[in-house]
Amino acid sequence: MAIDRIVNTAAADETDDPVEQEFENKLRPQDFANYIGQDRLKQNLQLAIAAAKKRAEPLDHILLYGPPGLGKTTMASVIAHEMGSQIRITSGPAIERAGDLASLLTNLQDGDILFIDEIHRLHRTVEEVLYSAMEDFKLDIMIGKGPSARSLRLDLPKFTLIGATTRTGALAAPLRDRFGMIHRLEFYNHDQIGQIIGRTADILNVRIHPEAAHELAKRSRLTPRIANRLLKRVRDYADVNGDGIIDSTISRQALILLDVDDLGLDPADRLLLLAIIDNYKGGPVGVETLAALTAEERSTIEDFIEPYLMQIGLLERTPRGRKVTPKAYHHLGRQSQLAEDAAGATRNSLL
Ligand code: ADP
Repeated sequence: MAIDRIVNTAAADETDDPVEQEFENKLRPQDFANYIGQDRLKQNLQLAIAAAKKRAEPLDHILLYGPPGLGKTTMASVIAHEMGSQIRITSGPAIERAGDLASLLTNLQDGDILFIDEIHRLHRTVEEVLYSAMEDFKLDIMIGKGPSARSLRLDLPKFTLIGATTRTGALAAPLRDRFGMIHRLEFYNHDQIGQIIGRTADILNVRIHPEAAHELAKRSRLTPRIANRLLKRVRDYADVNGDGIIDSTISRQALILLDVDDLGLDPADRLLLLAIIDNYKGGPVGVETLAALTAEERSTIEDFIEPYLMQIGLLERTPRGRKVTPKAYHHLGRQSQLAEDAAGATRNSLL
């Protein structure tokens, strides 16, 4: 099902919307100094970059993983900038055949960075070509077909591959093992999201009151892409219904219109939680059942909806399926089964 949600974290290139793409590019920090948060990752990368530069060698291949919108693509371009290298950006599904990858690789230069987003979606045949390219900087290609076919081994420039994925588990082990560094991107905290909103507001020349920025930060699912999108929508609202300045009244009204609640949940999140509460007494329930009940793709649930709900303690993954927590009942204004049982027991003992 296509999702059009304010909190949709699909990357701009996935939406194919050039305006959205330009918006994201404009806001992308270029260097470590402007890349807010992810301090441990930055420290690790700064060290690796300094060492690679000192040895005049390319950087090890890097795998970045974590939910969409947390800054994987941005980090790849920051790394390129800090290395003084060129970057080619592509994605797993965009490389359809081994030949597409061959032409990408042979057009690189020493020290270049190749960024493959959604690397877990590479075709198996393409992935196999990548193994020797990553390991020995060699490209094995077959020329011709049938009995006259022969294989050719070409030298490749010494490039660095940066792969991004929402789940490392979805990656074949031989591919995962060829990355020298594997790093997870964490959700941001409210302060960091507040700083990102402030930075974006400066770039877009938007005036926003600190309380309004704080309110937006709380509802941004701890995710920079969503913070930027919310700010953009609220700015539209302020332009149309006010004088363009975002104060707390304007932001509250806009957020009501957008149907994003004070924890950043949108109707799809609430639908998922209520499906578990109303149909399965709070769970556990399997993800496939939830996908059918909510008409969401399984991957949307796993990659996008669940990580945030788990991060803020509304949902748990157990070996038997998904379970909502007492905090979710409270947030949605529902009584938990336990509370209902306790109330029932009290009633019975009074009768
Ligand atoms: P991902 O590749 O993980 O889906 P992106 O790198 O495309 O996420 O980030 C989405 C948007 O969020 C970017 O356009 C960028 O403006 C913003 N962003 C991401 N991380 C940061 C950060 N650490 N500091 C400031 N802005 C960020």
